[in-house]
Amino acid sequence: MAQIIDGKKIAQEIRNEVRGETTLLKEMSGITPGLAFILVGENPASQVYVNMKGKACEEMGFYSITERMPENTPEQALLNKIQEFNAASNIHGILVQLPLPKHINEAKVLELIRPSKDVDGFHPYNVGKLVVGEDTLKPCTPAGIQELLIRSGNDPKGKHVVVVGRSNIVGKPVANILLQKQAGANAVVTVAHTGAADLTRYTKTADVLIAAMGKAEVITGDMLKESVVVIDVGVNRVDDPSAKNGYKLVGDVHFESASKVAKAITPVPGGVGPMTIAMLMKNTLKAAKSSFR
Ligand code: NAP
Repeated sequence: MAQIIDGKKIAQEIRNEVRGETTLLKEMSGITPGLAFILVGENPASQVYVNMKGKACEEMGFYSITERMPENTPEQALLNKIQEFNAASNIHGILVQLPLPKHINEAKVLELIRPSKDVDGFHPYNVGKLVVGEDTLKPCTPAGIQELLIRSGNDPKGKHVVVVGRSNIVGKPVANILLQKQAGANAVVTVAHTGAADLTRYTKTADVLIAAMGKAEVITGDMLKESVVVIDVGVNRVDDPSAKNGYKLVGDVHFESASKVAKAITPVPGGVGPMTIAMLMKNTLKAAKSSFR
């Protein structure tokens, strides 16, 4: 049976480290890491995410502030708010919760965030630094995947990593992180997507398979090589009449069949999911430390 990579446990380890380092930073420099959330509109999922992130800030000993703006907020008002947080010395990270209402240009908003406060790692300047292998604020979910691999004893060094999915928030950045000639990376990386006529041709060759497609249980055990390490990023709702709320969450990988061939595998939920907030906390601490230097 495959090793289950426990994302909750690893995320808590990271949160404990961040909390400890935050205490030290406060003692040494008097700086309290500060994170500003901007939430535009009433999207229920976004509200839940921002609340969870706010609670994590409390646990870390961070200062946090949530700016809630109505759905019909003019784009310029949002840009002004970002400028305000860009200039605020007690704010080290700015997170604009996505998605934004349709009338707001997302790229324009994200590009206005000062790169040194871009704790989501989505600013093109930080993306560029990531690609050329410079130290930067890495996007949280991809950075969390790298931590999961390292901390579960599955260093990607020299392995063939196959990433399925090429989004700007998961697929492309995780591929770029893992191919760097750096500790905890140095993998040979292939990125597959819907342009691949035969997905199995690629998945079968993976020593490490990272599934980030958003398609329920598409990757099955027979598409994988014996002893593969599987990181399942997908979160998909499927009907489940036996569940109280009528649905359950599954990944992009068919867990039951994949876990029979895999050496190690992340569950959904409880795998990649908890890592994202942990890495956001880590990025905010990093941004606060950089402001001190
Ligand atoms: P996305 O923007 O929809 O991108 C999906 C990618 O998968 C695309 O590149 C698409 O290819 C590719 N793809 C889709 N179906 C495919 C198939 N049958 N064969 C091969 N490639 C296929 O999704 P995302 O934002 O990256 O998110 C992916 C999943 O991860 C979602 O379930 C999301 O909820 C989850 N997620 C979880 C976390 C977390 O746990 N913290 C964070 C972020 C995302 P094309 O480019 O060719 O269309």
